[in-house]
Order: sequence, then C-alpha cells, then structure tokens
Amino acid sequence: MRLIDDDETTIMRIVFLGAPGSGKGTQAQRLMADFSMVQISTGDLLRAAVSSGSAMGLKAKAAMDAGELVTDEIVLGIIRDRLQQGDVEQGFVLDGFPRNLAQAQALEEVLTEVGQPLDAVLLLNVDFEILMKRLTGRRTCSVTGKLLNIYFSDQAELDACTNAGGELVQRADDNEETIGNRLQVYRAQTEPLVDYYRGLTLLKTVDGEGAVDEVYGRIKSALGLSG
Ligand code: AMP
Repeated sequence: MRLIDDDETTIMRIVFLGAPGSGKGTQAQRLMADFSMVQISTGDLLRAAVSSGSAMGLKAKAAMDAGELVTDEIVLGIIRDRLQQGDVEQGFVLDGFPRNLAQAQALEEVLTEVGQPLDAVLLLNVDFEILMKRLTGRRTCSVTGKLLNIYFSDQAELDACTNAGGELVQRADDNEETIGNRLQVYRAQTEPLVDYYRGLTLLKTVDGEGAVDEVYGRIKSALGLSG
C-alpha cells in the first residue's frame, strides 16, 4: 500500500522518538509492512556492523555493551550512507536516531540539503516500570526476525518461532545493568529532543502503552494515515 492523499502519493519522513523499550522498532516494522516506507534503525545498522567484525563495528561495540551512545561521527557516517540509498525516496521511519541534539541538527542539515524535510516526530510515551519489563522480556526470533516478548507475546506467537526451528534470542544489551544505563542516557541526552521538536512544531505524542495493535492505531491516526 502507498500513502495516498488527494489522489497523489504522499511520502512521509518520520522520526520515532522514545525510550528504549517504548516500541519504536515494533511499530516501525508495522508501518513498513503496511505502507511503502523504510525503517532505518541505527541500532540494527550498528549491530550489523558489530557482527561483520568491521573496524567501525569494533569501535561501536564497547559503547553498545555499556549502554552508552556510540560516537556521533560513527552514527552520522552510517546515517548519511543509508539516506543516500534509493529506497528512502519511498519515505522512511528513523528508529533510534537522532539520540542527541548534535545528531538532530546534523539530520536537519542533511535533509535540508536534499530537500526532504521531516514531516513529523512521533514520541511514544511509556511508563518506566513497563519499559523495564519490555526490555528484560524482549526476544527476537532467529528465523523470522520478529520481535517478541516472553511476558507480553501470545504463547502461540512464541511457539510459532520455536516450531519453525528458531530460537528466541536476547540482545546482548538487554540485561538489567545495561538497561538502567540506557534509560539514564535516554533521559540525559535524548529526552531534550522532545522540546527541540516541539519548538519546530513537528512533535506528535502518542500513548505507547497497551497492545501493539492499539498503539499502532494511535500512531496511524496521529500521522493521519488510514488503512
Ligand atoms: P537501539 O537498538 O536503538 O536500542 O540501540 C542499541 C545501542 O546502539 C544503543 O544503546 C547505542 O549504544 C547504539 N546506538 C543506536 N542508535 C544510536 C544513535 N543514534 N547514537 C548513538 N548510539 C546509538
């Protein structure tokens, strides 16, 4: 499905803002599946770099394991490369980027240069206690790549992964110690972007608590999407 508005194709460029565990990745995957826009997750791109064993991946790994931010130089390099690929012309959801003011300003410059400004910044609001449970319970199916949660997903969904020969894999940084640090880093460095984007009149706030489908419905209505 394409995003249609008054018989013309509308391309949306969106940032998902929210603490680790607020559902950015899950919801971005839903938008990607239903509409022609790509999900760009700097976390996923960095994890791929770490797995590939590249020099850049090695540099990023220590910060990621500690729950700290990877340097702006590395992250901006990755984002600039990714934004040059043709598929972003379909619109995109940035998931996990920007994470501080310098990254937000750099993003604005890059997008202004290519004449593709952001349409909206969507903040997913989730209570701290729920974030902890979402993060400690989070798993990815090794076969389908589907994001699951041992506390919240249906047993049938969890079984579907294992029945397909997959394993429920926990991210290396989803342990309690690292999670605490990631949430602190969010508060100190990323949360100021809420005011920044409010000032640019791009911010839309959505209640990120409840079932995935419910939250997805709220996101679509906040973005004026139907279907
Ligand atoms: P995520 O998958 O978005 O939770 O990211 C996992 C980890 O990757 C973070 O804890 C950071 O170490 C690193 N990371 C991801 N995105 C960024 C970013 N925009 N800036 C700096 N570090 C990032």
